[in-house]
Amino acid sequence: MGVLGNLFERKNCDICGKQTNIFGGTKLENGRLCKDCANKLSPYLSGVKHLTVDDIRDHLAYREENAEKVKAFDVSYAIGGKNAKLYIDMEKQQLIVSSSGNWRNTNPDILNFDQIVNCDLDIKENRTEIKKKDEEGKEVSYDPKRYEYSYNFYVYITVNASFFNSLSMKINSSSVDGYDNDEYEECYLVSQEICEILDLIRNKETDLIDEAVEYYTNRLNAPKRAYNKNTYYSDTRKYSRTYDYYLERDPRKNHYKF
Ligand SMILES: [Zn+2]
Repeated sequence: MGVLGNLFERKNCDICGKQTNIFGGTKLENGRLCKDCANKLSPYLSGVKHLTVDDIRDHLAYREENAEKVKAFDVSYAIGGKNAKLYIDMEKQQLIVSSSGNWRNTNPDILNFDQIVNCDLDIKENRTEIKKKDEEGKEVSYDPKRYEYSYNFYVYITVNASFFNSLSMKINSSSVDGYDNDEYEECYLVSQEICEILDLIRNKETDLIDEAVEYYTNRLNAPKRAYNKNTYYSDTRKYSRTYDYYLERDPRKNHYKF
């Protein structure tokens, strides 16, 4: 066998023994993984190439236990937007975050209520300049410059878990154009609902979750409110966080004059 023969010699997975692909599968600190075994890892597990075969064995045992918990998971509440949702099992005091409509088949990592450390709302604003054509047909700026805005809504969750410490939820699917519309308001309220409910969970005020879900369901079904900085945040904020917290994180505050 020449050099090429050695290069493409198939190696075996150190977990299940099956042959890896021609590139040798996923490398570990002291071995390798086939594709099937790699697919069983949690998406939150990072730095796989620095883990040992024993680390991966432990992790896969955890993943098998997790799959059993997923089967037993009962959804008391599903909260979220068009993309990621927070699923809560009140009886077992567990939660799942998933963007998959088919989440039961993806073995999402289950978190116990007491693993939730914190959460934070982040609304990312993107702006694109709108230009006009001058007499020569050349694109030029307006004076003052004009922009189009679009938004993405995220909730970042800090957790106390054995192999990851944070996860993020993207609330909207495609980005939201503009801030003065129902879609923005809906994404904003859903993001806020998730933060408030996660706060109830980490503050061990879970008896208020039912009321909070009802409150936000009504809010989301009510006609859109006029955005007025002076009343909007005190009106919306119901449970844990301050007026200033939500005002600070809402890009709308920069676009309206009061
Ligand atoms: Zn394998």
